[in-house]
Amino acid sequence: MKKPKILLIYTGGTIGMVKDADTGVLEAFDFNSLLTRIPELKLLDCDIDTVSFDQPIDSSNMNTKYWEAMAEIIKVNYDTFSGFVVLHGSDTMSYSASVLSFMLENLEKPVIFTGSQLPIGDLRTDAKENLITSIQLASLHNDGIPIIKEVSLYFEYKLYRGNRTTKINAEHFEAFDSPNYPTIAESGVHLKVNHEFLRKEEFTERLIVRTQLDTNIGVLKLFPGISKPLVEAVLNTKGLKGLIIESYGSGNATTEKWFIDLLKAAIDKGLHIINVTQCSGGGVIMGKYATSAQLRRIGVISGKDITTEAAAAKLMYLLGYNISPEEFQFYFEKPLRGEMT
Ligand code: ASP
Repeated sequence: MKKPKILLIYTGGTIGMVKDADTGVLEAFDFNSLLTRIPELKLLDCDIDTVSFDQPIDSSNMNTKYWEAMAEIIKVNYDTFSGFVVLHGSDTMSYSASVLSFMLENLEKPVIFTGSQLPIGDLRTDAKENLITSIQLASLHNDGIPIIKEVSLYFEYKLYRGNRTTKINAEHFEAFDSPNYPTIAESGVHLKVNHEFLRKEEFTERLIVRTQLDTNIGVLKLFPGISKPLVEAVLNTKGLKGLIIESYGSGNATTEKWFIDLLKAAIDKGLHIINVTQCSGGGVIMGKYATSAQLRRIGVISGKDITTEAAAAKLMYLLGYNISPEEFQFYFEKPLRGEMT
């Protein structure tokens, strides 16, 4: 049987940096020489190829152009490789993993995002373990059929569904969490895949890459005392088509008349408003309390237990389609890539 072939896609971030011996400054290293810098990779039971962004970026500069570039690399190499590992800065990795999960329709191969808190050249780096295990997970197969067939994120011994993750720590090696969905694999003495939590859909159609993302969206986090001018300013943003409201608890918001009236007027004019909880775990249940019942009445869409990152990704993706407000609400409230329960 042929060995699995894995494509490493280097986009930037701390993982690919080394310290200049003289100046101590962190700089991106030449990814084509990856195998020479990390000889352990030769021990893996798979063939590895690498491709790098011409100009690797800090992931704080991530945007739709780079998402398209990643999706294009996967599309062009889809038949040649059995799996993909995307090396990415951790800061916006959850956004990218969420967006790619929507862009890659009918995905039947692993796309594993990983990165690190310390550069690969650092003595105490977490990069090697993250990289090596991500490659091993991407290589897992059953008679040539990949075991993981979704966009996921590996960090510090855990593989998560990508669109369920959020970055929770800027200091600890355990930088990510998936508060509303179990880990799909774990790395201990053995690699343990939690098969019951993997996506198992089978597709009759080939991979389709959806690139029409619309970034005319916003996120408004509620806080006690939020002012009318602030909410008005956000709702009057030129070109705004979708707004995520980070509400309290199970989807609650102030019942002050000015607030509800402003939201209703915006919805009536065609704005899609999504209710997402600002709690890290649990989700929105509109109508549980009176403070959310009227949001439902005026046409606010429930984000259920989606993360803000995945909600932003799903908004950009759905806005790329020309669909009616009813269809928009229907598709937003329905899990499309396992991003909500
Ligand atoms: N600022 C870096 C980035 O997201 C941090 C990291 O790589 O973890 O690109």
